[in-house]
Amino acid sequence: MGFTVFVALWATDHSPQHEASASARVIATALPLAVFPASWLLRMRARRPREVTIGTWYLVIGACVGTIGSLSRAIAFAVHPVPDPMHSPFAGVAAAVGMATCLLMTCGLMLEAAARSQGKLRASNAQLQRVANTDPLTGVGNRRYFETAALEAVAAAREAGQPVCVVLLDIDHFKDINDRHGHEAGDEVLRSIATMVSAQLRARDLLARWGGEEFAVLLVGADVPEAARVGERLLQGVRSLSVAAVGGQRITLSAGVARLGATESLAEGQRRADAALYEAKTQGRDRMAMAG
Ligand code: GH3
Ligand code: MG
Ligand code: MG
Repeated sequence: MGFTVFVALWATDHSPQHEASASARVIATALPLAVFPASWLLRMRARRPREVTIGTWYLVIGACVGTIGSLSRAIAFAVHPVPDPMHSPFAGVAAAVGMATCLLMTCGLMLEAAARSQGKLRASNAQLQRVANTDPLTGVGNRRYFETAALEAVAAAREAGQPVCVVLLDIDHFKDINDRHGHEAGDEVLRSIATMVSAQLRARDLLARWGGEEFAVLLVGADVPEAARVGERLLQGVRSLSVAAVGGQRITLSAGVARLGATESLAEGQRRADAALYEAKTQGRDRMAMAG
């Protein structure tokens, strides 16, 4: 409303000082107008920050300055015609506005293009990272993922004074399953077990296919009794799996569990978990053994 009154007064001003004060008026007109796109951008930024880059700011402000500048210039000359527009004091302001517009728009386009290609690069890097860290058959993490993610998780847990347990899982007599039902059926068993184990773990635990028919689990914040409970739950989960591809044949797992010592390396903890797993196998399979 105030802005409309301001423009109306400005447009109907036929005083001799009109032309001389035109520059100041254009700037004064442009400033309140720029508030609208700026507030729109701020709202957009609050809702979807990724979509509003610095380039967007340049583009919107450049478009604003250009529009306001051309409109003001058109109104100024319509209301107060001058014999030689090129030598009127307003011409300087008009040229400055034009240059500012060009500059802002060019910078905006360049920054926007840079932000977009950077965004695409980030997305494809993330996708590449996901693929490199995922086991293609089961969709859970692979060994490479576990080796880095587990080191970070162990360091964070130690800093927070939390215990960490390593659990190694190995499907029992998996070679027989393959031999009897075929490799494809074996793959289906691997997928079903990975899905079941993954569903049993909390978000902060880590799961990876360690190799062949073995899985590694890192239980963060879990002490030995908690790890034993989780291990039992996983064994039970596999016992109750019914995989159609193997005609519902009973499948079992063996597990080795080790609680990581305060200064023990992850590799050493895994070695102890592996020894415990071997223990579980030699004791008859379908069971869990705790590392000493
Ligand atoms: P154990 O109870 O002692 O663990 O016996 P096992 O038969 O499970 O162990 P073994 O090491 O003798 O055999 C593992 C088998 O796992 C052999 C291999 O062909 C199979 N295997 C490894 N990776 C895959 C895979 O990606 N898909 C399928 N279907 N089989 C796999
Ligand atoms: Mg094995
Ligand atoms: Mg096995």
